[in-house]
Amino acid sequence: MSAAALSELTTLRLGGPAARLVTIDDDEALVDAVRTADDADEPLLLLAGGSNVVVADAGFDGTVARVATRGAQTIRMADGRVRLNVAAGEDWDAFVAACVADGLAGVEALSGIPGSVGATPIQNVGAYGQEVADVLINVRALDRSTGELHDLDAEACLFDYRSSVFKRDPGRWVVLNVSLALEPAGVSEPIRYAELAARLGIDVGARAPVGEVRDAVLALRRGKGMVLDPADPDTVSAGSFFTNPILRARDFDAFAQRAAEHIGTDARPPAWPVEPRAVKTSAAWLIERAGFRRGYGNPAGIAISSKHTLALTNRGGGTTAELVALAREIAAGVHHAFGVALVPEPVFVGHSW
Ligand SMILES: Cc1cc2nc3c(=O)[nH]c(=O)nc-3n(C[C@H](O)[C@H](O)[C@H](O)COP(=O)(O)OP(=O)(O)OC[C@H]3O[C@@H](n4cnc5c(N)ncnc54)[C@H](O)[C@@H]3O)c2cc1C
Repeated sequence: MSAAALSELTTLRLGGPAARLVTIDDDEALVDAVRTADDADEPLLLLAGGSNVVVADAGFDGTVARVATRGAQTIRMADGRVRLNVAAGEDWDAFVAACVADGLAGVEALSGIPGSVGATPIQNVGAYGQEVADVLINVRALDRSTGELHDLDAEACLFDYRSSVFKRDPGRWVVLNVSLALEPAGVSEPIRYAELAARLGIDVGARAPVGEVRDAVLALRRGKGMVLDPADPDTVSAGSFFTNPILRARDFDAFAQRAAEHIGTDARPPAWPVEPRAVKTSAAWLIERAGFRRGYGNPAGIAISSKHTLALTNRGGGTTAELVALAREIAAGVHHAFGVALVPEPVFVGHSW
């Protein structure tokens, strides 16, 4: 056990000290550490890849448990699919790469997402038309409110856009193992995302070899600074800082009207119907049209990525306070221009939005 600077454990390279840091590489020790901290009423933060957290400059006055459990088991299912039971601490993208190399389909569009396997159900990670909810069949987790272990199937996980039972009730669950069912098809699921289909030179709804899909996704993501790369300062981020807002249909119409008045009649905002009478729109579109350009901010501190309006980056000398100030400025600018509230995607630790 040791004290540690959390800035060294987060992809934003932000966050003050933790009182104690433990790195845990087996399930039993992880469950023990959590139960011990809970019995002693001691604050506990689970941290894995550190790619979806915004830790306060004051740090975390408690124990940080780094989830570093390893191992995966492959089982052929009766219906021909392949079930993979994967320890929470495994690296997500290494897992995706191995699945793609084995010709397994279902996660290829989720290539290049940093972090651990165990964190993927937390916010139901998604990209390029796939979500982990599409292939997840079980999450083995400790319920800290009772101290008991549970197996949650996909329905019990209450998955939604960037949300789940785990995200809605922060701190309650410790994910130990994730089970996914993939198709040993060699070709991808039908491609749903127009930009990815165009890159692959196929129509939306067509399939492509999983390896080609992975390569195309990685190339698209690199162009946006969305693959961790020590040589690329635009990747010192937590990925997308804001979720895409979901509006009731009538609120969307009012917003579209306001957008037309604000920036001219050809400015119809992007709209994806998500459920009866609700519409998802683009946070990046809102931020750009509210006047915030790529690179906006402090070139020696916190600034919008030069490749992607949705990512806030630490150019080297930033602080969490500065990051939050820029995020609030952007959210206030969007609200002033369009009446739409932006909601941060990452988890705030030691402070709140
Ligand atoms: C460059 C970049 C690109 C990204 N692109 C995407 C993207 O395309 N799509 C997307 O959805 N996300 C994206 N993200 C966000 C992030 O990578 C994912 O949310 C990822 O799943 C976080 O994993 P992690 O291990 O780093 O989690 P951490 O940041 O370590 O933790 C995130 C949260 O999960 C909790 N947690 C972690 N492990 C466990 C566990 N075992 N049990 C219970 N709680 C746990 C933590 O306490 C914390 O609240 C991106 C981030 C970056 C930096």
